[in-house]
Amino acid sequence: MKKTPFTTKEKLEEIIKEIPTPFHIYDEKGMRENAKAVRDAFAWNPGFKEYFAVKANPNPVLMQILQEYGCGVDCSSLTELMLSDAAGFHGHDIMFSSNDTPAEEFVYADKLGAIINLDDFTHVQFLEDTLGYIPETISCRFNPGGVYEVSNGIMDNPGDAKYGMTKEQIIEAYKILKQKGAKHFGIHAFLVSNTVTNDYYPSLAKTLFELVVEISKETGCKFDFINLSGGVGIPYRPDQTPNDIFAIGEGVHKVYDEILVPAGLGDVKIFTEMGRFMMGPYGALVTKAIHEKHTYKEYIGVDACAANLMRPAMYGAYHHITVMGKENSPCDHKYDVTGSLCENNDKFAVDRMLPEIEKGDILFIHDTGAHGSSMGYNYNGRLWSAEVLLKEDGSYELIRRAQTPRDYFSTLDCFPIYKEIDFDLKK
Ligand SMILES: *Cc1c(COP(=O)(O)O)cnc(C)c1O
Repeated sequence: MKKTPFTTKEKLEEIIKEIPTPFHIYDEKGMRENAKAVRDAFAWNPGFKEYFAVKANPNPVLMQILQEYGCGVDCSSLTELMLSDAAGFHGHDIMFSSNDTPAEEFVYADKLGAIINLDDFTHVQFLEDTLGYIPETISCRFNPGGVYEVSNGIMDNPGDAKYGMTKEQIIEAYKILKQKGAKHFGIHAFLVSNTVTNDYYPSLAKTLFELVVEISKETGCKFDFINLSGGVGIPYRPDQTPNDIFAIGEGVHKVYDEILVPAGLGDVKIFTEMGRFMMGPYGALVTKAIHEKHTYKEYIGVDACAANLMRPAMYGAYHHITVMGKENSPCDHKYDVTGSLCENNDKFAVDRMLPEIEKGDILFIHDTGAHGSSMGYNYNGRLWSAEVLLKEDGSYELIRRAQTPRDYFSTLDCFPIYKEIDFDLKK
């Protein structure tokens, strides 16, 4: 499918006059339509809830938009919990799916009334030692080991992943949790990332539903919810077919009716923890071409770098690029599109066929709504970029300002050189 930007060159030029590049821009209309589709696709399950994975995009303005569609939040750190609380998510609207969890984070999650999802068997005892009791509602994370394959060949290697408990461990964990007073149980698994297929959730659902039927019989635990977690992907590449969330919802519905209903478990709630699918396509990194370089290859240097979008450097991930205003020009130039970090992997694209780029051209780097800004960092003294919300009526709002040098130096309490710095570059 042809990938087209969700905004125009004229709109971006208008925004750039006020907010300099680089910045991430988010498409409110697209994210609302998608959130509604997710809600509708699982409406057959009265208890359904999507817990948006905050790590994908921890911006409270965006989190609150998703909340309008019934979304809760999935957190895995203290600050994500704090942010969620401040954004108005409370009690069981917060899922705490962490791993290698510090004690104080369990305490804080419990204080907020969040549902705690235990990553490891030893965390049963750790949680009891930390809190002094076991919460009434509790969840455990399952890892089946081995290789997990979905029908079209997409697979991952849960056996190599640090997350979750083995089958023997999880059964034992439920028995102990029940003994210690837990009453409402959940199960969770995240086995494959960025699946561009409608089969992943239904296939995972089958695995978890069968396991829940078995565990219920063996332990007598009453399961409240089954959490399919994240992993539903998006088409980063133009040749990929987007997932159909309605087909996914129906696929889960079918196995629910086949496995849970006959076992007398027809009241179990389905939860999801999607991050990428909720936000990925509804964000873009807007950056300007500032240099061109001709050596052994053709380079275009832009004013963003991997500190603003780490995925290409970290995973070799593909992010589609549109040169604004040149949508219909032939892609007859082969470029490496680079940032300024002193690291050769700081490239948004390698050997990419694009229209001829001139200095000053605006590049729209697609699909940065999830794991884009949130993976920002300060290497090479580069600063976090701003975030802009493009609203449904065409207006825009700055929903996070860019970091400034003052912010960057603000933690140097022991060596306050920042007092001597001419931040406004006036000298
Ligand atoms: C990252 C993560 C998610 C979200 O994954 P996506 O692939 O972005 O949907 C959900 N749950 C947990 C526990 C995660 O770590």
